[in-house]
Amino acid sequence: MKLTSKYEMIQHILTEMKQPAYRFQQIADAIFKQRIGEYERMTILPKRIRQELIKNLGEHVLNLTPVIQKTSNQVSKVLFAIEGGERIEAVQLSYERGWKSYCISSQCGCGYGCSFCATGTIGLKRNLTADEITDQLLYFHLNGQTLDSVSFMGMGEALANPNIFDTLKILTDPRIFGLGHRRITVSTIGILPGIDRLAKEFPQVNLTFSLHSPFDDQRSELMPINNRFPLNDVLNKLDQHIRDTGRKVYIAYILLRGENDSNEHAEAIAALLKHRGPWEHLYHVNLIPYNSTDVTPESFHRSDKDRVQKFVSILKSKGIKITVRTQFGTEIDAACGQLYGHNKQI
Ligand code: SF4
Repeated sequence: MKLTSKYEMIQHILTEMKQPAYRFQQIADAIFKQRIGEYERMTILPKRIRQELIKNLGEHVLNLTPVIQKTSNQVSKVLFAIEGGERIEAVQLSYERGWKSYCISSQCGCGYGCSFCATGTIGLKRNLTADEITDQLLYFHLNGQTLDSVSFMGMGEALANPNIFDTLKILTDPRIFGLGHRRITVSTIGILPGIDRLAKEFPQVNLTFSLHSPFDDQRSELMPINNRFPLNDVLNKLDQHIRDTGRKVYIAYILLRGENDSNEHAEAIAALLKHRGPWEHLYHVNLIPYNSTDVTPESFHRSDKDRVQKFVSILKSKGIKITVRTQFGTEIDAACGQLYGHNKQI
C-alpha cells in the first residue's frame, strides 16, 4: 500500500498498533487545535505510541526547514529547504480586518518556461510531495497564524503535479486542515486533463486560468504551453467547467508594458469572454501588476497607471467583470520564484 502523506502514515501506524479510531483525532487535534509540533509533547498519547510515531516520522510534525523569512507591512515570505538541497517558497498576505491568505508552491521550479516568470528560468527540479505542499501551511499554523484562504500561485504549475489531488484531500479533510473548498484556488496555465480532474474531484475549489494574451501567436511566445493546449481549447474547457460546477472561473492577466496592455488587447479579451453562452457572467478577470526581478528578462516592465486605467475602462465598457489586484510586497520580491532567485546559493 502506497502511503501518500504523513497523515496516512499516522493512521497506518495506529492501525498496526491496533489503536481505537479516536487516537487519530487526538493527534490531529494536538496539531490543528493545540498547535503542537512535536510528537513527544502529545502527552495525551501513551508513550509507546509517541515513540512509534517518532521512530517512523521523526520528532517534528513539520518536515520543512525554514531558511529565510522576509517580512514587510502586509507580506511575509518564507524560503524553505526541502530534501535534495533545493528551496521552495510560500507567501503570507495579511489583509485589513485580519484575513490571512497564502500563496504556496506546488513544484520546485517549473518546466513550462513562461518568458516573464522568474520560476520559469529555474526549470523543473521536481514535483513536491503532498507533505511538502501542506507543510508550507503547517509552518504558519504552528506559528500561531490563522489559515483563511490558500492559492497555488507560488512556484510551479499545480495541475502538472498529480500530488496536488492528495494535497487537496488533506487540506479539505475536516479532521486535518479543514479548509473550505471555496477558500482554495488552483491556478493553471491551461493543463486540460488537470482541469477535467479538478472539476470531477473538487468542483467547489476555485479555478484561475492564466491568460496573459488574448492572441494565440503572442500567447505561444509568452507561454509555450499554448502550442500544446491552445487558447480556444482551454476556453471551451473552462465553459464546460462553469457549466458542470456552477462556479466562477477567474482569468488572471499580468499587464506587461507595451506587450499586452494595448486597447486592442483589452478589446480582444472582451471578445473572447463575451457571447460564450448563458454562463459567461461567471468569468471574472483579475488584472495583476507585473513584478520584475533580477532573473526575469529586462524587456518586461510594469504597465503605467494611466494605461491600466484605460485597459480597465475598455473591459468594463464591454460588460466584463474585472478586479485590479493590489500589488503587495514588491519590496521583498513577493512573486513566484523571486526569493529563490536571490537565495539559491544560501
Ligand atoms: S508562470 Fe507558472 S507555469 Fe509559467 S513558468 Fe512560471 S510557474 Fe511555470
